[in-house]
Amino acid sequence: MRRRRLVAQLFPSYLMIAALALLAVTWYVGRAWRASFLAQTATDLKVRADLVIPQFQGLLSPLQAGEVDRVCKELGRLSATRLTVILSSGRVVGDSDNEPAKMDNHGDRPEVRQALKGKIGVSTRHSYTEETPMMYVAAPLMEQDRVAAVVRASLPVAFIGRTLNGIYFKIALGGMGAALLAALLSLAMAHRLSRPLEEMKRVAQRFAQGDLRVKVPVPLSDEPASLAEALNYMAEQLDQRIRTITRQRQEQDAVLASMVEGVMAVDHQERIITLNQAGARLLGVDPDAARQRPIAEVVRHPDLQNFVDLALASPRQVEGEIIFRDAAPDRLLQIRGTPLRDAQGNAFGALIVLNDVTRLRRLEQARRDFVANVSHELKTPITSIKGFVETLLDGAIQEPDNAVNFLNIIARHADRLNAIIDDLLSLSRIEQDSDRGKIALAAGHIKEVLRKAVQACRERAAAKDIAIDLDCPEELATEINAPLLEQAVVNLIDNAVKYSPAGRPVRVEARVETGEVLILVKDQGSGIAPEHLSRLFERFYRVDPGRSRKVGGTGLGLAIVKHIAQAHGGYVTLQSAPGKGSTFFIHLPQV
Ligand code: ADP
Repeated sequence: MRRRRLVAQLFPSYLMIAALALLAVTWYVGRAWRASFLAQTATDLKVRADLVIPQFQGLLSPLQAGEVDRVCKELGRLSATRLTVILSSGRVVGDSDNEPAKMDNHGDRPEVRQALKGKIGVSTRHSYTEETPMMYVAAPLMEQDRVAAVVRASLPVAFIGRTLNGIYFKIALGGMGAALLAALLSLAMAHRLSRPLEEMKRVAQRFAQGDLRVKVPVPLSDEPASLAEALNYMAEQLDQRIRTITRQRQEQDAVLASMVEGVMAVDHQERIITLNQAGARLLGVDPDAARQRPIAEVVRHPDLQNFVDLALASPRQVEGEIIFRDAAPDRLLQIRGTPLRDAQGNAFGALIVLNDVTRLRRLEQARRDFVANVSHELKTPITSIKGFVETLLDGAIQEPDNAVNFLNIIARHADRLNAIIDDLLSLSRIEQDSDRGKIALAAGHIKEVLRKAVQACRERAAAKDIAIDLDCPEELATEINAPLLEQAVVNLIDNAVKYSPAGRPVRVEARVETGEVLILVKDQGSGIAPEHLSRLFERFYRVDPGRSRKVGGTGLGLAIVKHIAQAHGGYVTLQSAPGKGSTFFIHLPQV
């Protein structure tokens, strides 16, 4: 249906009501006026008849017809009224406008009949004499208590009509003026009524655009005011609710963004509803581009796809692990899927939580390897010790030469056990202290530390005819834990001596390079093949286990060096090639 403006609806109605009211009033006033005017005219005619009656008294008996007629004509002219004198016989003896002789008997005229009965006769009818509608008022002329004649005053109705029309015209003119005024007033009124509604519409449109801070002006009239107040209240409530929802959403986003776990919500069509930063990083996708797209389109990974299918189909939480081979090393993701339910408990998707457990699994593996390695390292000397003790018990103890020999071997294995346990203990102490921040660092001179380390190794080096050169600026200093750093350098020099042929010198150096304090231990020994370099600092990792054991190595020396460097906030590197010797570097931050 075509919608019309309120003004367009109100104005014609107002106008119609005003016009009808005016018409009714005009009609009623017109009628009342007419009735009143006719009554007034009748009274007026009666007064004129009454006024002229005395003029005819004395002219009737004896009858002076000529004189009556003359007086009639004279008075009729003066009063602008037609005057007629009719005898009780009905004969007309005087008439202001006509010749009585030519007039017929008027005894049958209704007003005359009334007057002949002694009353005032009034009649409005067609005049046969004048050939026009007239109003007549007839009054009896009494002589000795009897009606001697009737004096009749009359006026043509046309004259009355003309006067009435004049009045009607004025009423109509006034009515038109009033109608115009009413039209203007009703237009103003319609506008006044519709203006607050227009204003409300304008504000409601701004509400719809999201601007809920504007207020609808409250009009003075009761009903529009209630509507405006209701609108304002509604906007306030909406604003509050939207703010609450926005705040909750921001909190939820903040929680999701700060989570280490990847979180992804998918609907039943497997479209991604939510994906947090961590999830996007783990899956290697752009979170904004992924939203609302099917998971199969975003991540091409059959295992993940199957898991999402399973999570969507299952009413309970499901768990699994998937491997991502997109980067080296492979990443292992632990994945959990939980059905998402709405307030009515109907499932509408699934929440997938992803956890990168690559490091955890690597650590678990390292722990398992470590336990196996320790067991293996300890098992070898213990088996030997046990074997030699049994041999001695079986009788070898009776052979003094063998017995001493066996006991020396047992002592060597016991030393080895001791060395392994010492190294394990110092490694775990360094790790624990470092974790708890208990390793105290203080400004110290590097040269002093290196000198002591060289001193500690001097004897073993001399045994292999190996010279140890030391080159370090006296004033070189940084934040260090001197005993630990000395232990690290001793381990490196010890290795250099162990894995160098006799007579090849070892060089210990320290200097500042690219903002770091660099300590290096360089030998001209066997060197290390490249494939071992990445794992050399792991616990119990050896290039040649047999050789290491032979030279009294525990396989823990370099692991200790690495942890000491880390406890100083530094790190270790090495350069080596088979047959060309090795250089181990300890990098320390320069403070
Ligand atoms: P170990 O007690 O066996 O020496 P380390 O952790 O000190 O244990 O060293 C690990 C392995 O690294 C050694 O077994 C050896 O094979 C190799 N290595 C260490 N230092 C050197 C070096 N200076 N020259 C050649 N190989 C070395």
